[in-house]
Amino acid sequence: MAEMTLEGVDARPEDSAFALGRVHSIETMGTVDGPGIRFVVFVQGCPMRCAYCHNPDTWSVNGGTMVTVEHLMDEFQSNHEFYRSGGITVSGGEPLLQPEFLADLFCAMHNNPDGRVHTCLDSCGYAFDPAHPEKFDAVLNETDMVLLDIKHADPVEHKKLTGCDPARILAFGDELARRKIKVVIRHVVVPGITDTVEECEKLGCLIAPWHNVVGLEMLPYHTMGVVKYEQLGIPYKLEGVPQMDTARMPELRNAVMTGMKKRRAELKNAIG
Ligand code: SF4
Repeated sequence: MAEMTLEGVDARPEDSAFALGRVHSIETMGTVDGPGIRFVVFVQGCPMRCAYCHNPDTWSVNGGTMVTVEHLMDEFQSNHEFYRSGGITVSGGEPLLQPEFLADLFCAMHNNPDGRVHTCLDSCGYAFDPAHPEKFDAVLNETDMVLLDIKHADPVEHKKLTGCDPARILAFGDELARRKIKVVIRHVVVPGITDTVEECEKLGCLIAPWHNVVGLEMLPYHTMGVVKYEQLGIPYKLEGVPQMDTARMPELRNAVMTGMKKRRAELKNAIG
């Protein structure tokens, strides 16, 4: 991956024990990014360029606003009661571009004076560096759950769809499995790209070795993000691709489960 740096991020202001983060926006009543009602922080900056991304305004590593952990804690505390069954999720953009900030934020949430807060990371995994996993120790030590997006099961098609090779993402999945961190796999199903039984079975095979996977979210492709591309003057690569027919989702979900079971049986037989 080309080195991406976020200007000013992970710097520790003299009057704070915490790193600064570059944040795109905050959602105070999130219901789709992790269990329960959640305080969701969308960070700025992403190294991937998924053709269907509905947040292209989070791509630039120079946009967003510099925010302190203390500020986010204050915002969280003002609605603390709502998050009893939920917690905090950091989404993006790609959160792993700012590991120190994430570690400080999650640590502060775990040590919340009103009770430990559940922490969840919504990540594409691509900013993980398998050559230096120690850079992510602090954040992963404070992460209760990861929503891990696997964009395509085939490496060549993955690159076409996202502009990036999936090796780092799979290495991140392996690291989460090693650490036994709960993972929910997310897969966007796009007509003509990721909507075949074969691709979904292959996805099942890929995730089969990860016994920490506790959920699978198959997300039907929609075109609601297109308007942002028009506003930003960015060409939309999936022009003309229709919304996913949701009636096919159970079949494709079953295909992932079938692939996973088949691969687990093979792995079991190989061990003997
Ligand atoms: S990883 Fe997420 S934020 Fe980044 S381009 Fe893909 S969909 Fe968009």
